[in-house]
Amino acid sequence: MRGALLIMRRLRSIIIVAIACIILAYSLGAVYGEVIIPNGQAEQEDEHEPFAEPSTPHDDRPEPRSPDEVDDTSSARDLPCLEETAMVTTEGIQIVTNPDHVLVLVNKERNLPPDYIPNDLVAPEIPFPFEGDDPRKLMQREAAEALQQLVAGALEESLELYGLSGYRSYETQKQIFAYNVQRRGEEAANQFSARPGQSEHQTGLAMDVTSRQVDFGLTQAFGKTAEGRWLKEHAHEFGFIIRYPAGKEQITGYQYEPWHLRYVGVEHAHAIQASGLTLEEYLEKK
Ligand SMILES: [Zn+2]
Repeated sequence: MRGALLIMRRLRSIIIVAIACIILAYSLGAVYGEVIIPNGQAEQEDEHEPFAEPSTPHDDRPEPRSPDEVDDTSSARDLPCLEETAMVTTEGIQIVTNPDHVLVLVNKERNLPPDYIPNDLVAPEIPFPFEGDDPRKLMQREAAEALQQLVAGALEESLELYGLSGYRSYETQKQIFAYNVQRRGEEAANQFSARPGQSEHQTGLAMDVTSRQVDFGLTQAFGKTAEGRWLKEHAHEFGFIIRYPAGKEQITGYQYEPWHLRYVGVEHAHAIQASGLTLEEYLEKK
């Protein structure tokens, strides 16, 4: 009897202690639960620490910027200055001093050094209407990868683009220009063919593209085909511009070439497309 009574008493005190613990735990949980968990501050503060408390005394400092914003501003400021990126030889010829820059400007005034060969030339994995290893398939790696994306993007719209002519050495351009002068005379040749050192193809950033519909040729009629119209609208999304647009012959020095793509990177291609400027005007505008 006495033993049973003792057990009952112990049980009662255990139950009382347990109830007290439950009440204590519940009230603590309610307090911390309201302050910490529903506001979620414990999780958020780590991630946003530099941006927390916008109304502290630091208000007069410039707002912290995201890395994207910083990039936008600095690259806009970093447009190469045309005067500072060319030297003039004793013969009065301008030679560009930034041939490896993605925005290098090469035209009838601004020459590439005769010995300039881009680093990192690779063949994009796109169709060409000819077979085998050929320097015409080559572009700088970044441009080649972007061109692959572009050609794949066109294919999603059932448009088949072919590469025709990418990298061209100074020597090859010399032969091409001499051939065109012989065939058409120097003045005419100068309208559609570049002198050695003055071809964008020597940069490894350009590719002439074509399609079956124009028999894999380079003709202004390409601009009116579905492929040509798609390029005009979408090339910039992949970092390319139509380098010699219609109506800008006086500025670029070249006739309209709906097939000549020049890689400038996505950001500059968007800006150039939105502005309707040629590369010459875009770089002079800064
Ligand atoms: Zn071209």
